[in-house]
This record gives sequence, C-alpha cells and structure tokens, in this order.
Amino acid sequence: MRPPAPLPRLPGRLLAPLLASVLLAAQPLGAAIASSNSNSNSNSGSGSGSDPKTGANAERDKTTPDRRIVMTIDDLPWVQLPGISTAQALPGHRRLVAAIKRAGIPAIGFVNEGKLEHDGKLQPERVAMLSDWLDAGATLGNHTYAHADLHAVGLPAYQDDILRGERQLRPLLQARGQQPHWFRHPYLRAGRSAQDKAGLERFLSEHDYRIAPVTVDNSDWIWAGAYLHAADAKDAAKLKARLRREYVAYMGAKIDYYEQQSIALLGYNLPQTWLIHANLLNADTYGDLVKMVQKRGYRFIGLAEAMRDPAYQRADAYTGPAGPSWIHRWAIGEKKPASFFGDEPEVPAWVMTLADLESE
Ligand SMILES: [Zn+2]
Repeated sequence: MRPPAPLPRLPGRLLAPLLASVLLAAQPLGAAIASSNSNSNSNSGSGSGSDPKTGANAERDKTTPDRRIVMTIDDLPWVQLPGISTAQALPGHRRLVAAIKRAGIPAIGFVNEGKLEHDGKLQPERVAMLSDWLDAGATLGNHTYAHADLHAVGLPAYQDDILRGERQLRPLLQARGQQPHWFRHPYLRAGRSAQDKAGLERFLSEHDYRIAPVTVDNSDWIWAGAYLHAADAKDAAKLKARLRREYVAYMGAKIDYYEQQSIALLGYNLPQTWLIHANLLNADTYGDLVKMVQKRGYRFIGLAEAMRDPAYQRADAYTGPAGPSWIHRWAIGEKKPASFFGDEPEVPAWVMTLADLESE
C-alpha cells in the first residue's frame, strides 16, 4: 500500500485505502474483487438478466430512459481539515457552498466531526461551515467522527465513532426540525463478514440511520491532488483549466459506465448515487459537473427518493477489502464473471503523474 507522502496535502488516512480501491479498478477488476470476496452466500449464479421483472424494466428503458441521480459529497466540512487551518479552508469552502446554492439541486454532505476540532478543541467557525451547507439547501449525514475504517478498527469502535460523529450534527439538524438519518461508510468499507454487516445494520437502524450507498464510484481525490499540485506549476492557470475540463469529461465517462453496468445487471438504469468530496477541484467545477450530468438527460433527486428503487433492497454480499460501487457489489453477489467489471474509465497517466502517483 502506497504511503501518504506523495500527496502531502491530502489526509493520509484518506489516501492509502482509496488507493487500494483504485488499484482494484485496474483490469481485471472483477477478478480482483471477486477473488478477494470470501463470502460465499449469494443468489444463484444465473444473474438477473433472465428475470422477467427486470426484462420488463429493460423494455421500458428503451422508450423512456430513467435518468435520475443523487449528488453526495463526503468529508465535510473540508477534505483537507484538520491538516490545514480554518482560514486556509474557507475560500474553497465558500466557493463550493456558493456553487451548491447556485445549482439549486438536492445535495447531501457527509460530515467527519473530527475535522471540526483543532488540538482537541471544537472550532466554532468550522461548525459554522456546516451551517453554511444547510443554509445553501443541502442536508447533512454522518460519515463517522474520525473517518474510521471499519475493517481496521472493528465494529464496536466503529459504532462509537458513529455516535461521536453526531454530537454537533444532531443539534444542528434538530434546530432546523431535522435529524441525522443517512450514514456513509468511510472508504466505502462496509464490513469483512456477514456478521459485521448485520451488526452494523442493526446498530444503524436502532439509531434511525440508513446506509447511503454509492453507485458512481470514481477517483475524484486523485484529480483533486493533481489540482492542488498544479497551483505550484509555472503554467498554473492553463494546467488547472485543463484539469477542470478533463475531470468533468472523466466524470461523464464514469456516469455512462455505471449506467451501462446498471442496465447490464438489473435490466434498467437505477437512480444513481454519485460520490464527490468537499475539495477545491469540486468547488471549481461543481456547476459544470451538474450541467454535464443534466445534459445527459439526468435529473437530480434526493437520497430518499433514490432508495425507494427496489435495487437498493438487494443484499450487499461483498465482504472483500475494498470499497466498490454497490452495482458491483450486487454483481459480485450474482457471481458475474470478471469480464463484467471491465472497461471502467481510468485516471489518465498525466494526471497520475501530476498527483505524484505512478499507477492507479
Ligand atoms: Zn470519506
């Protein structure tokens, strides 16, 4: 596993595990994920392609393509906290929040309350950053206090970290007549055993939480690292403009890919759930990302609406080490061959180099 040194401005705990999921995205993804998944309980190997129900959906899809998507943004209030000061985080934060407000689409941000502290002391200006999100019309969910890795800390400590992660969130939401309801696993690591998964589900439901899955998995964090490094380049403005342009195109390719994967697995395009992070690159491209997706015929919806799609009732049978898309988790549960997982768009080599990464 790569050390965090090559991207000093990204939090180390974010880098290595995400890198692992990027490594798994290299070909052949299916083989990598399937072979690392020790869980053998799954449906029959026949898949859903022959299911008359999904067949009907495929039929419907030909006439009225269902293109709905949820915008979810992780690591609030700002990815680089607490590694940088509040003052350093604020300009990007303000740009992102302004862009969210301007776009006017539903959005949900997932909070790491550990980022609200400096030297163990709560920073009121950082709590105010969360209020900015609510003021902009977004809602907030729980992403644990310390960006905990379930696979590393184990279920009891993880549950503690979830509760520790709502000490500011709960009163903030309550003041607006809301309460924490959505939970996003850091690194999308959702458990190495069926027992852990069931235990976490039970815990979350006891605390009125639901898991917020991700279907459009991607490596925005690598692009974001390159974008930070580009600021130091001689031709910074030109380089950053190119990064922004190609990043939006990369995200478009990811959305096309997961649309195809959904149709291949389910027979229709499910309401997609998209993950990006609260970083400078997304602050500078948010409006373009939204427009790009809308141009593809997508309509942004809230998580609750998306989760009403029956696909999200499927069991996540994946117990491997990485954090793949839920579409791929279900495909693994159906024992899809390695070829099913191929052809996923990759981060171009020049962006990897700029991010100080040698390979995905
Ligand atoms: Zn995260």
